[in-house]
Amino acid sequence: MSEFMFKELPGGGRYLVSPQLSICSGVSHGFFTREGGVSKGKFESLNFRFTGGDDQAALAENYRIAAEALGGSYNQIVRTCQMHTDRIEVIDSLEGRFRQVGAPDGCDAVITNVPGVVLAGFYADCQLILLYDEHNRAIAAVHAGWRGVANRILAKTVEKMGKIYGTQPKNIIAAVSPSICRRCFETDDDVKEILFEIYEDQVPDYFYREGSKWHIDLKMLTYSSFMRLGVQPYNIDISNFCPCCGEEELFWSHRRQGQERGVHCGMIMLKERD
Ligand SMILES: [Zn+2]
Repeated sequence: MSEFMFKELPGGGRYLVSPQLSICSGVSHGFFTREGGVSKGKFESLNFRFTGGDDQAALAENYRIAAEALGGSYNQIVRTCQMHTDRIEVIDSLEGRFRQVGAPDGCDAVITNVPGVVLAGFYADCQLILLYDEHNRAIAAVHAGWRGVANRILAKTVEKMGKIYGTQPKNIIAAVSPSICRRCFETDDDVKEILFEIYEDQVPDYFYREGSKWHIDLKMLTYSSFMRLGVQPYNIDISNFCPCCGEEELFWSHRRQGQERGVHCGMIMLKERD
């Protein structure tokens, strides 16, 4: 677990960065909070969610603000189509237009080795995981809620980066967004059974029962997935923040608010070599 650091957007408003990724000169990234955007009402203010009824011009401005904070541009944003799948899209060119990939079937991870492409994924309780292979200059954005933890999308993304870019887990630097904590992630037997089957050897450390409900530590399951893959412990940053029990001014939470909310975005971009 790590204390992520706050940074200030040029126009005001805080966002979060991983200490470990921040010291890498070849990449820029950010995990955005509610602050610093132009959306109003329940979407106030840095909302990235198209399906909730927010104003389209405001959404475009929010994306621009975020991309420019990374030193990138709105027209190079490639965003996921998150549906809890294990599908991964490979981005191999700069197209110069704001685009979504993977619709309509969904794609929950995107990878690229093209400098300037701004990979964008989303979180609000779910984890958004950003990866950087410093050795082969490749990046990824991976969305993983409990279904993504169950379908092993993180491992599949790392495997795919290995096949395409030659990525070795020992060279990966990883940052995991604010996401639901084990106190807030309360669930029934069915979800527990699915995750238990995959992570049985971690029990009882990451699973515990309270009354009729199970609590599962998804952050530690992700940490354990990284360990199994061979990612170095000192290269893994997992945010301590939980959107559900954290500051309401800073975070939206699916569990706390249902669909009446915006969504957070995390972005990562390879910088051009000097
Ligand atoms: Zn919590």
